[in-house]
Parts: sequence; structure tokens; C-alpha cells
Amino acid sequence: KLFNEVQEAKGNIRVFCRCRPLSKAEVSDGCSTVVDFDVAKDGELGIVNGSSTKKIFKFDRVYTPRDDQGVVYADASPMVISVLDGYNVCIFAYGQTGTGKTFTMEGTKGNRGVNYRTLEELFKIAKERSETFTYDISVSVLEVYNEQIRDLLAPPTTSKKLEIKQAPEGFHHVPGLVEAKVENIEEVWNVLQTGSSARAVGSNNVNEHSSRSHCMLCIMVTAKNLIDGECTKSKLWLVDLAGSERLAKTDVQGDRLKEAQNINRSLSALGDVISALANRSSHIPYRNSKLTHLLQDSLGNQIVRSLVSKYSGESKALMFVQISPSDKDLSETISSLNFATRVR
Ligand code: ADP
Ligand code: MG
Repeated sequence: KLFNEVQEAKGNIRVFCRCRPLSKAEVSDGCSTVVDFDVAKDGELGIVNGSSTKKIFKFDRVYTPRDDQGVVYADASPMVISVLDGYNVCIFAYGQTGTGKTFTMEGTKGNRGVNYRTLEELFKIAKERSETFTYDISVSVLEVYNEQIRDLLAPPTTSKKLEIKQAPEGFHHVPGLVEAKVENIEEVWNVLQTGSSARAVGSNNVNEHSSRSHCMLCIMVTAKNLIDGECTKSKLWLVDLAGSERLAKTDVQGDRLKEAQNINRSLSALGDVISALANRSSHIPYRNSKLTHLLQDSLGNQIVRSLVSKYSGESKALMFVQISPSDKDLSETISSLNFATRVR
């Protein structure tokens, strides 16, 4: 039932916009709020630029700083759980560093985000359906940094080069990537912890590093129908994207420049893929970045079948565009809202 609601949604990607609260530091610095939620319609927000002009942006959902993790997850839930019905799903958080991408996806221990809540619900539903289906669920956690894939579940000493390959059945995968089979939510928590602590290895500033890389959790589901024996494979990508902010002019050299160019390239590649899909282009430029290449099966529709099992090529995508309410972030906020409007 919930599932139909998602199918009927227009456009090829849904966009939910989430605004974080002003931080304590911003409040004490006297920052003001540029975001106005009291606009006429649901799903719209206004940006107050200067004293009078107001620009209205429209999304599938808009969250005020008061909307909590539960409210946000409830809206994403129909889409994420459709992975159990054979859909490939992709959810990503886009926005400037410090706007709440990690808060939305990972959350905190007392305030868990989409990743944990998704797995929790998948296990719950799998159990409810256990008379008709058996589900195998496994997860991979990886990072894309400077166009290189790093397996966050592999032992730190392994240094094999990871590449994206297309299987004979048509789907894309990364041979050699650890796929951890998980049976319950406690195991998931451990795996997610392993993944996030591996991100820190080899970087002197964890927060800075994570804002310059894409952190990607892939949940792979094999569903077996116990009545007709049919098997379906599908996957769900949950992506905490690198920060979308433009580089400060003073930083334009060396490693920073290379990092910034790679982030820029992959975020524009993402935008290009989504617009090409929306325009029904004959060529979808998935291969312009590791990010879009990895997400290929979950962005767009390609029906692929193998002899042994049905590999579902139907997909659904959702983007959280994260913004700051502060006047000092106004130009980055406008640029994120424009990006999100372009892809929607
Ligand atoms: P990003 O991953 O985009 O760089 P973070 O998720 O690290 O941003 O968020 C920056 C800070 O703002 C964190 O301290 C986070 O806990 C806080 N924060 C973000 N979104 C919210 C929210 N909706 N409610 C409360 N605090 C938030
Ligand atoms: Mg982050």
C-alpha cells in the first residue's frame, strides 16, 4: 500500500529539503535566519534575501529545524523498504559541510538516522514475512575519495585496488569488496561502527576528511519466495555525499585543489545523470565519476534478468538537500537549492 504511494510520485527522483537549527555559536554571533517556512503551501520554503526579496523553492517535502529524525525517516520509509520487493533504491544527502548530512544519514547514538532506522525496519518486515519469504541481507561500507574506492570493512592492511565491474547478469559490483552478512540489528550496529572508525584511519582530521569524501552504505537483499521459489536480488544505497561548498580562493592549490576538483566533478556528474534521466536522454553519463558508476543500478531503470534469479532493474531515488538557516551561509544555501531544483 505504502509502496504504491511512492510509485505514483512524479519525476524520477524525489527531493526532500531539511534545514538544521541555528547552532549555539551562530546564535551568539548574532546570525539571522534566511529561511522562511511560513509560505503558502506544503513542500515550499522561502529564502529571504536582504530585507525584502523572497525566492520560493518547491520540493516533495520540507522539514523545519523542529522536525525530528523519526518524522524524516517516516517519509523515507516506504521507499527504503521497497528494496524487499525487488527495487533498487538510492538515497543521498547533499549539501554544504555542517548542514546535517551525517546527522540525517548516520545520526547520533541517541538520535539515530536513516541508515540505522532502515536496517531496523528491514529486519522487522523480513520477520513479519517469514512464512512466505526468506531474506538474506548483507552490507558493504565504502568511501570514495579522490575517485578511489576504499573498503571500510576490509582489514586496514589490505591495499587492493577496487574497481567497478559489470556482472554477466547486468548489475554492477565491486569484486573484492567485503559484503558482511547481517542477521540482526545488533550485528548491523557493529558493522556500522567498524565502518565509521575505519574512516578515521590515516587522516589527521576526521571531520575534514569525511566532508571531502562520499561515504556509501550498500544494503544487498536476496529475497526468496518460498511459494514459487523465485529469487530476487536488489540493493539499497545510502550515501552521505562530500560537502558541496565551493573552495575558498585562498585554498586553491595542491591536494586541496585536487580534492575539490574531484568532489566538483562527481557532484556535477550526479546532477548530469539525474537530469539526463529526467529528459529521457538516450545516453546517461554514468561513467563520468565513480559515484554515479557505483549508483548506476539504483538510478534509472534498466531491467536485467539472469537465468537463476531475477535481478530487478527498477529503481527509486531520493535526495535530501540539507541547508543551513544562517545568513552567513546564504550563497551556499541558494546554490544547494538550485542544484536540488535542477535535479527534481
Ligand atoms: P554535515 O555532515 O553535513 O557536515 P553534520 O551532520 O555533521 O553536517 O551536522 C553539523 C552539526 O549540526 C552537528 O553537530 C549536528 O549534530 C547538528 N545538526 C545537524 N542537523 C541537525 C538537526 N536537524 N537537528 C539538530 N542538530 C542538527
Ligand atoms: Mg558529515
